[in-house]
Amino acid sequence: MFIVELLVNACIAFTGFYIISKIIHSTHFKSYVVKSIIVGLLTGALGVLLMFKGIAVNDSLRMDLRHIPLVLLAFYGSRFPLIIATLIIACSRFLFGVTEQAAVAFVAVLCISIGMLAIHRRLLNRPFLQNISMNVWALMMITVAVLINLGWNETALSLLLSTWTIGLTVGVLSSLLTLDFQLLNRQVDIYKKSAELDHLTGLYNRRVWDDRTAGLEQEGRIYNILALDIDHFKHVNDTYGHGNGDLVLQQFANILKEETRPHDITARIGGEEFMILIYDLAPQKATKVANRIRQRIASQRFQIDGFPAIDVTTSIGIAHGKNIHIQRMSALADESLYTAKQQGRNRTILFDNESDRHVAATANRETVRS
Ligand code: GH3
Ligand code: MG
Ligand code: MG
Repeated sequence: MFIVELLVNACIAFTGFYIISKIIHSTHFKSYVVKSIIVGLLTGALGVLLMFKGIAVNDSLRMDLRHIPLVLLAFYGSRFPLIIATLIIACSRFLFGVTEQAAVAFVAVLCISIGMLAIHRRLLNRPFLQNISMNVWALMMITVAVLINLGWNETALSLLLSTWTIGLTVGVLSSLLTLDFQLLNRQVDIYKKSAELDHLTGLYNRRVWDDRTAGLEQEGRIYNILALDIDHFKHVNDTYGHGNGDLVLQQFANILKEETRPHDITARIGGEEFMILIYDLAPQKATKVANRIRQRIASQRFQIDGFPAIDVTTSIGIAHGKNIHIQRMSALADESLYTAKQQGRNRTILFDNESDRHVAATANRETVRS
């Protein structure tokens, strides 16, 4: 007798679920607080809609699946939105009359949310069990509320039977839906990372480099391009093996990560060639950074398998400029790098667009080339 209304409730809950899950996983929100408020208000509104579309058992008793949206938020661990939604749903019950039954329902909703937060913390690593436990907990609270309000009679039993059947079915299906959502989003994150990062070194790959440097000439900011190439790397591969060459590349990349700031863009462009984009630094400062990296590499012992640690050096070419296309800047940095190789390697050469000169900028070796 109550099945049709509860099925309508279930359909509304699912549709709402889908929309709210989409918002929870959305990356378009800049502010966490704004997103939380929107999710809390929408979930609250969904609960109220479920109440309006529920069953009016008698003048003062209502039965519906208003707890289901709360389970969703508790499952995601969204505390702040859960508090907002709980208050909206609990208080809205009084729209149907300020009665003793409404007060019992108000307390039941509060108990449901508090209990679910505890369940979320306890079963953090067992998502399916966590979701089912939350649903069962909510249904138990609803049962207590119904028995207080209606007493132990045929109407109450029939109502509870329908609610448990539909509630549990919707609960299980919604667990699967939310778990699917989570899995999908996790997979997307993994694929996104593997599409952006070089798998050997964990630095950005060429694709990200090209994306991030496109349009630099229009930004109106000073920027520096550092081109790095490991010296005599072929020798490392030939003498110690390709696997050890890979170990050197990883340790080299780790130094670059440590010696650059999070807002610099550091990428592995090719085999043993790396590029760094550094904004807003004067040529002298950019040269200082490059020399710090170069000296750190030259002084570090690189650990390899089956041989004693080895020494590695790098040559660095820098291009400094503003409003210049990245292709031109990369070519100038490469030219500087080539000059550094020609001059004996393990050195830094700067091309300064203002003076239109290559400057040998290796520490203790400040000479000017044309
Ligand atoms: P130079 O000082 O002139 O740069 O000398 P080099 O030996 O470093 O020059 P070259 O660019 O010819 O050598 C690069 C070598 O890097 C050749 C290639 O086998 C090796 N290489 C490229 N990619 C990888 C990689 O992923 N792993 C390893 N181990 N070696 C790689
Ligand atoms: Mg090379
Ligand atoms: Mg090389």
